[in-house]
Amino acid sequence: MSDGLEQLWAGWRHRYVTGATDAEREQAGGPGDGCVFCRLARSGPPAAENGVVWRGETCFSVLNAYPYANGHLLVLPLRHVDRLDELTAAESAELWSTTRDSAAAIEAAYRPDGLNVGANLGRAAGAGIPQHLHLHVLPRWSGDTNFMTAVAGVRVMPQSLSDSWSQLHAAWPDASGSPAR
Ligand SMILES: [Zn+2]
Repeated sequence: MSDGLEQLWAGWRHRYVTGATDAEREQAGGPGDGCVFCRLARSGPPAAENGVVWRGETCFSVLNAYPYANGHLLVLPLRHVDRLDELTAAESAELWSTTRDSAAAIEAAYRPDGLNVGANLGRAAGAGIPQHLHLHVLPRWSGDTNFMTAVAGVRVMPQSLSDSWSQLHAAWPDASGSPAR
């Protein structure tokens, strides 16, 4: 990321108390206070303050503090595991149903042209916090391939994280009564 992009996000990072600093990312070696995702897992019920949009028995969906797009969600097991094959059957099932519902909420809230769903497993694959498994779910639009990043070193992020939270929380399938989980 360019210096310009870093600067654009500095204020939001400060306000988003659960966001990881670069130092925290380096320290995120084990479960507990050292892992920002474990802290999020213990941060209580869904609220704009913690960015958690939905929380289940074993998994949860939370706004990415460093979004590539408005509405960028992370889906994680509550438990500190770094590999897919460490998930229990129940965790695997709920990780996927939470991913499905995250995609549905993003589609309902943002009406994107498409979605990216994926995971970076391991630092070599691009994971910022490889120690705690997480899936990315984010909206995409035709022609949004980082045009501003390419030309100006910034991404246009007009929506605050709390606005994103409100929109996604309201659009979550559970909230609208459709079958979920
Ligand atoms: Zn963790």
